[in-house]
Amino acid sequence: MDRHIYLDNAATTKVRKEVIDAMIPYFSDIYGNASSQHEFGRGAKDALEASRASIASKINADAKEIFFTSGGSESDNWALKGACMALESKGKHVITTAVEHHAVIDSVKQLAKQGFDITYLPVDCDGQVSVDDVLAAIRKDTILISVMAANNEIGTIMPIAKIGKVAKERGILFHTDAVQAIGVLDIDVKAMNIDMLCASAHKFHGPKGVGFLYVRRGIRLVKLIDGGAQERNRRAGTENIPGIVGMAKALEIMIKEREYQNERLSSMRDRMIKGLLDIPDSRLNGHISNRLPGNVNVSFDGIEGEALLVSLDMQGISASSGSACMSGLFEPSYVLMALGNGEENSRSSIRYTLGSDNTDDEIDYAVLLTKETVKKLRDISPFYKK
Ligand SMILES: *Cc1c(COP(=O)(O)O)cnc(C)c1O
Repeated sequence: MDRHIYLDNAATTKVRKEVIDAMIPYFSDIYGNASSQHEFGRGAKDALEASRASIASKINADAKEIFFTSGGSESDNWALKGACMALESKGKHVITTAVEHHAVIDSVKQLAKQGFDITYLPVDCDGQVSVDDVLAAIRKDTILISVMAANNEIGTIMPIAKIGKVAKERGILFHTDAVQAIGVLDIDVKAMNIDMLCASAHKFHGPKGVGFLYVRRGIRLVKLIDGGAQERNRRAGTENIPGIVGMAKALEIMIKEREYQNERLSSMRDRMIKGLLDIPDSRLNGHISNRLPGNVNVSFDGIEGEALLVSLDMQGISASSGSACMSGLFEPSYVLMALGNGEENSRSSIRYTLGSDNTDDEIDYAVLLTKETVKKLRDISPFYKK
């Protein structure tokens, strides 16, 4: 069997042909440094500013509020560390959730080492944070609230517009990691009262190693990368022009096709969930409807997600398991643990994330192979009670 089916679009996506075509001239012809005072430099600078304006318009921001970075991780690090360092004298309390991406969790852990006090809000069994919990956690010294727009493992969408409103009323900065949401959900930073927002091109069919941070006008961030005066003197380094052009193009296409793709993907997602839940002793992780259109995350009693992943990989299906391999041991996913699932259930999960290239036929095939493989693994599992 020679089929290869990619169902790991939350990890990264294929760069679209139109995106590659848009990038190529900026490697081969218009390769100047955007800071240079000559024709080649001006060409690069024009592309840089056109990309900035295009991206800003997609989230209702001003072009001056968009800062290019090396991706989601840098954007998260800069937003959190930069804002906390700048506001240190005002207070040292930060509110976030237990299910954020490592780029957020590890940034706030670092801040905790420097004396900041971090509240990790719990989530309900569907992975949603409650706005009441956010309100209750606010203290006099709270300077920042960081809640992701949508979760990368379970696809649950967070009530960020409501949290933005609460943050604004209390005069607290609100940051959202929108890496999984941008181009998929309708995001308006003004209407949603978002002060800082992170995105990464490779999660929406753009190139790897480029992203952006939206920072509302007037917000001061301590610099993370010192050097030249690029990005209005706030983030040093020669701009990655081909990457930035590719990111703007990819976002443009995402937004143009959003309605069509969201409908197509959510119908494939629901078809896949239905097929997988046909398997006895299976469970959906994350919210049933309030979830990203491409996310399927299911647990199967009595098996290791890791074993299922490896077996599917040998059969040409690329998915992802929740557990991370840490020094040879499979640690259950902290996101699934936060849903109150218990270790065993958390370890027995698998994530399929669909993208714009997937077809109904591929989904049906992946469901069929999963059914067969789960059965085989259970037949040899000492943990599964038949
Ligand atoms: C992928 C991801 C990141 C990190 O982005 P990179 O560009 O890979 O550094 C951060 N947050 C979320 C939710 C992600 O899915």
